[in-house]
Amino acid sequence: MDRKLSRPFILFGGDYNPDQWDDETIDQDIEVFKKTKINTVTLPVFSWAKLEPSEGIYNFEWLDHILDKLDEAGLSYFLATPTSAQPAWLSRKYPEVLPVDIAGRKRTHGMRVFFCVNSDKFRERAAIIAGKMAERYKDRPGLIGWHVANEYGTYCYCENCQKKFRSWLKERYKTLDELNLRWHTCFWGKTLYDFEEVVVPTELNDDYRFNPAVQLDYMRFITDSTIECYENEAKILKAATPTLPVFTNISGYIKKLDQSKMVSHMDTAGWDNYPWPTDERSFPAMKHDIMRALKGGESYYVMEQSPNQQNWQPYNKLKKPGEVRRLAYQGLAHGSDSSLYFQMRQSVAGQEKFHGAVISHSGRTDTRIIREFTELGGELEKLGDQFICGKADSRIGIVFDWNNWWALELCSGPSKDMDYLREVHRYYKHFYYNNYSVDFLIQDVDYSKYKVIVAPMLYMMKEGIAEKLREFTRNGGILIGTYMTGYADENDRCIYGAYPGPLKDVFGIWVEETDALYQDEYNQIHEIDDDSCSYKCSFLCDLIHTESANTLAVYERDFYAGLPAVTVNSFGNGKAYYIATAPDYEYLDKLINRILVDEKVEPVMKSSGEIEIVKRIKDGDEYIFAINHGNERGIIYIGDNHYKNLLTEDQVTGTIDISAGDVMVMKKGIDK
Ligand SMILES: [Zn+2]
Repeated sequence: MDRKLSRPFILFGGDYNPDQWDDETIDQDIEVFKKTKINTVTLPVFSWAKLEPSEGIYNFEWLDHILDKLDEAGLSYFLATPTSAQPAWLSRKYPEVLPVDIAGRKRTHGMRVFFCVNSDKFRERAAIIAGKMAERYKDRPGLIGWHVANEYGTYCYCENCQKKFRSWLKERYKTLDELNLRWHTCFWGKTLYDFEEVVVPTELNDDYRFNPAVQLDYMRFITDSTIECYENEAKILKAATPTLPVFTNISGYIKKLDQSKMVSHMDTAGWDNYPWPTDERSFPAMKHDIMRALKGGESYYVMEQSPNQQNWQPYNKLKKPGEVRRLAYQGLAHGSDSSLYFQMRQSVAGQEKFHGAVISHSGRTDTRIIREFTELGGELEKLGDQFICGKADSRIGIVFDWNNWWALELCSGPSKDMDYLREVHRYYKHFYYNNYSVDFLIQDVDYSKYKVIVAPMLYMMKEGIAEKLREFTRNGGILIGTYMTGYADENDRCIYGAYPGPLKDVFGIWVEETDALYQDEYNQIHEIDDDSCSYKCSFLCDLIHTESANTLAVYERDFYAGLPAVTVNSFGNGKAYYIATAPDYEYLDKLINRILVDEKVEPVMKSSGEIEIVKRIKDGDEYIFAINHGNERGIIYIGDNHYKNLLTEDQVTGTIDISAGDVMVMKKGIDK
């Protein structure tokens, strides 16, 4: 993102849907925004039907009136193109815009994000309304950027998608021979003799639905189609306002589309953070770090979080006192320049009427949520632009790839419990709970600044990745690899000659077989020089042979008791660890901690208690975020350095307390 596009303050506020209520209510809302220091809203996300009541007839006056009020109040806003919810007349008049689902059913009008991304008619009408908005509002003083549609991610399987999929395959593979080779169609007699024989992988075609090579290409195709659909509007907005950022918000369920490819077409990443109450606090932190990676470490926007409970979970827990504040600072700590929420006022009816909001159905301002927002808004205003655009400074990287994710979870075997995000999190959380900064390595990142790289379940060997990891290790890096590594190429064709394929010599092992454990089953491992201490392991157990590697730990049970479970291999000036099974946290903590101490990789700061500590650096200044997620006071070990607590103005050094649930934002150095 071009840094000049950023605002000199933390964006605080969120989705606002004032087309649902009258003038008096809007005026009350603006008073609440002033009181709570809300400075930014996003609108009109779902208002296409109101803006274009029939084809080519537009009604922008109501939106002009609201924007006048927002401008008068000095608020900033992202204008959203309303195209994630097409009007009923459009679906009725042009049924081709409606999607066909995986069951092959033509769907009727409804929902949102419920259109075929390949529909030419949809794109035509979407481009027209985006153009009208751009022309009408491009010079508005409050406009700070464009939010295209909302949470893309609909998969369609209509005739038109099928036609475009065939063209996409022709473009990608050029010849049928190549397509047959890549999809390995000779298995089960599926050789294709004409591109017209290709069908979409729906439930109407189980061969295709269950052929991972076809599925994988369909997911790539839908990502590319969604990018085209996004660009169809984005290019118009960009032309009208070249200096404003144009992007969309990524759904918190980030798997559906290759977000690294999507965001490469945007000016910044923006995402919607809806952690489940049962999520470990490290899980949303990990997603934040993934979002920061989408633009190569640049800051991003949290576009939505919930100010209180959600409505779409089975049990919608209230956010506990202070939880909104901790979640806000968690995002800011990991690289967000905003803390935006869905929604400002609770809708009176409809699908999300019980979703939390800053202003609830009561309309009152003497509520817990408004009190918490007022305090948070005051703090964020005080922090100003100090760490805006600040970056992380990590020596630890985790390789992450959407195609790898899809391919792993499309596998039939070795286990139905294949969950890439969970396995990445298994390794991420060691670093998180010990206050180490981690960068996710997506696409073409330079590995040379990292000391330790973890590549959990790097199943797909995309072109160049093995060479990059080999080079990194040879030059003195520490590589940590796991089960399900080095299996397949980009078309999910397995690599002959034993796993981990092209990384065999780097790890100095080869995998003969892989055992899948039941959900409640576990094996045990112990280190070879200490059999007094056993650790549980689960999920998968590779049966490996060492070649040049040394064994660090062995299995204790089953017919493979005594075989290596964890190994290390010297390779060039570096080392490569292979973890053949999923060990429990205690063992990983011990192993990874030993590696980090050996490599002299330092945590941001040490702490005790349930404290999250994260660093951002801006213009050489160091900002430390300390968030106490626990119900007990915690301790931060600052050492000899001096920091200024930006929320209280206190100078801090040495060992300091942080009370239960509290947050500190500190700037390094003595305040002059
Ligand atoms: Zn379609």
